[in-house]
Amino acid sequence: MVKILVTDPLHEDAIKILEEVGDVEIATGLSKEELLEKVKDAEVLVVRSGTKVTREVIENAEKLKVIGRAGVGVDNIDLDAATEKGIIVVNAPDASSISVAELTMGLMLAAARNIPQATASLKRGEWDRKSFKGIELYGKTLGIVGLGRIGQQVAKRAQAFGMNIIAYDPYIPEEVANSLGIKLVDLNTLCKESDFITLHVPLTPKTKHMIGKEQINLMKKNAIIVNCARGGLIDEKALYEALKEKKIRAAALDVFEEEPPKDNPLLTLDNVIGTPHQGASTEEAQKSAGTIVAEQIKKVLKG
Ligand code: NAD
Repeated sequence: MVKILVTDPLHEDAIKILEEVGDVEIATGLSKEELLEKVKDAEVLVVRSGTKVTREVIENAEKLKVIGRAGVGVDNIDLDAATEKGIIVVNAPDASSISVAELTMGLMLAAARNIPQATASLKRGEWDRKSFKGIELYGKTLGIVGLGRIGQQVAKRAQAFGMNIIAYDPYIPEEVANSLGIKLVDLNTLCKESDFITLHVPLTPKTKHMIGKEQINLMKKNAIIVNCARGGLIDEKALYEALKEKKIRAAALDVFEEEPPKDNPLLTLDNVIGTPHQGASTEEAQKSAGTIVAEQIKKVLKG
């Protein structure tokens, strides 16, 4: 039987599909050494974003044919190393778009209205109706960096809130943006004109730290930045300085340069709220991502 190694939590329906084609071993929370050992005789490896499928892991996996990523971003997989060894990488690009877009809206509202801070205060037994005055989304400009699947879902929802949308995405045709009622601008203009900025680009060498000191300096004093894409897109040191000095209003972060964050100073600031990489963590997205990837693996194995 084919050995299928699953190293991140996977939806039960996906496991059932995989069990039809092989022996499934579920081993989550592995150390690097344990992963190197376990992957040796696996023909299939299934991960989410937690497992780092490095060149070393791939080169150690003597029998590996397929890597399944139950989700979108494949930046935790060394694609060059996989390609060199003829390993097929499959993912589920559409499965979590709505979930991530909904979390983005949630974080925007939470940051605009200080919902987490007010909840914590309420639970401390306080009744402080003055400290948490917020701002509306209505009538504000939302700058979307990356107008792909998730960016477009966010745009739709933000339009329903009465927001004006601008976007930076050099790869999206103007006609597509126009048909969505969105104005395409360059990154500097987006930083200058937006009240809210949300990131929805993949992490690549080109996009790493695309929001740094220079871009933050262009932002409005009241700007709120939301990141449900990847931590490395923002230079966290520059963001920390800006938030500490109240150069911008707030940040709402689902992702961090280092996950889980270790002594990240951003998490000491009152104007930072966040979630532990929960963008795709819904029943619907997990079920869909898992089963789509499992079906693709089944197809590859059956040739
Ligand atoms: P997508 O590929 O549909 O869209 C990405 C968009 O970014 C594309 O339109 C592309 O043209 C644009 N882009 C690429 N490089 C760019 C650049 N240098 N400058 C500006 N735009 C650029 O991807 P998606 O499905 O919308 O997902 C976006 C990202 O969200 C993923 O890469 C992933 O990292 C992240 N994500 C996070 C979670 C989470 O749990 N928080 C879940 C799913 C996806």
